[in-house]
Amino acid sequence: MTDIAFDNTYAQELQGLYVPWQGQEWPEPALLLLNEGLARDLGLSPDDLRSDDGVGLLSGHALPEGARPLAQAYAGHQFGGFSPQLGDGRAILVGEWLDDKGQRWDLHLKGSGRTPFARGGDGRAVLGPVLREYLISEAMAALGVPTTRALAACTTGDRVLRQNGLEPGAVLARTGSSHLRVGTFQFFAARGEVDKLRLLLDYAIARHDDDLLGAPEAALRLLERVATRQVRLVALWMGLGFVHGVMNTDNTTISGETIDYGPCAFMDRYDPATVFSSIDHMGRYAYGNQPAAVHWNLARLAEALLPLIDSDETRAIARATEVIEGSQARYREEWLAVFARKLGLPAPDAGLIEDMHSLWQGQSVDFTGFFRALPAALQGDDADLRALFADPVAPKAWLARYRAAVGDVGAAIRQMAQVNPIYIPRNHLVEEALHKASFDHDMAPFLGLLERVQNPFTPVADTAQYARPAPQDAPDVVTYCGT
Ligand code: AMP
Ligand code: MG
Repeated sequence: MTDIAFDNTYAQELQGLYVPWQGQEWPEPALLLLNEGLARDLGLSPDDLRSDDGVGLLSGHALPEGARPLAQAYAGHQFGGFSPQLGDGRAILVGEWLDDKGQRWDLHLKGSGRTPFARGGDGRAVLGPVLREYLISEAMAALGVPTTRALAACTTGDRVLRQNGLEPGAVLARTGSSHLRVGTFQFFAARGEVDKLRLLLDYAIARHDDDLLGAPEAALRLLERVATRQVRLVALWMGLGFVHGVMNTDNTTISGETIDYGPCAFMDRYDPATVFSSIDHMGRYAYGNQPAAVHWNLARLAEALLPLIDSDETRAIARATEVIEGSQARYREEWLAVFARKLGLPAPDAGLIEDMHSLWQGQSVDFTGFFRALPAALQGDDADLRALFADPVAPKAWLARYRAAVGDVGAAIRQMAQVNPIYIPRNHLVEEALHKASFDHDMAPFLGLLERVQNPFTPVADTAQYARPAPQDAPDVVTYCGT
């Protein structure tokens, strides 16, 4: 038996926000990857998870007694258009448990079969995208970014039709501190169900901000907390060149964790217009638009919370607007702090940081490589750094200012080594690893890459191929939703 003591508050307290639902039975469920370190950290036994019962749990094939599996309902703005009824179309929340520190976790399966919210979808996930989420969420965790985590990847034993033909079916088991989204609040708000909205508010506060239980103006305070977490999150993404790709309100968490790694990817060469998603024709969720997108999503949360903020709508709007505007200023502080750390500056220097971004424009600079070339440049050897620019003379004046702004060079270099990764999931390597795993039964490239991105700051001999960007003439990577 898998000995998880499930304790299902979502199922108990949030009637109307889910349908009870089981995972699908599979022809041949098998465990492909188990995140043993995460399992232990969260108080789960890797041996149990590897057993037949464990594989039944992680694949959704056969869930244990104590689970109360369900498909969550939510609403959401997708690319700006509102859908009052979305929900887990191919996922289930298996249940919650408490770790040794008393922290509550969700166990969630993606690809566990069609649910009543599936609309036209087949309810399935295939191996490539499951491995992509596993890899990129592990990279994010190692880079210090709040995120849902991959606990396991299972194959199902059958094949599923996708763009490139039949692909191996797979299920991702992931953990998160909850799966509450902006869209969860929008669900009740859109139906005018204020009493249920209040229950959801209390539930979210108990789960993420329990110091606010019973506090005056709780709805406004929760909005402030979510805004603080989300703007910090997006600032961290910006510091890593991460493009989420589908920042819809149903993919914006209350916890402040990154969720739903569908079309996401890391930008190689700096360009604020960078988009990978096949459907993002307007660049709504381009790298440079992410701060605006998160503010827009926070404004949607504010709207949903209005009836709980003040019974007088004009007053409620005024209070919520203050919070949203405050979070814009906070985003700028977070963004400056992120780049100040990346530059090893003793204090944020807005002019230097903004001019660095202007300097990159049109220069095709490898974003990750730029920061790794800074230590040598600080010590007087700027050849590698200049070689990253289309015009190697371009950074000269900025570099002089930068050298002057850094105080203690040794301290700066030590600090930078902790925040500027050597290894990120480079797109061309990710594509190759997923292709080999899906079509050649060859997990070696994936496992090699996983090992590097789980230790992004630790230089390892003979791994330069993992640190380099794609060749200039490599084809653009295109990513997909719902795969
Ligand atoms: P996403 O943008 O990936 O977060 O997905 C948006 C919505 O579409 C969610 O409600 C998903 O559950 C649903 N969805 C995505 N892919 C599928 C699929 N293959 N089958 C059923 N539902 C899906
Ligand atoms: Mg989603």
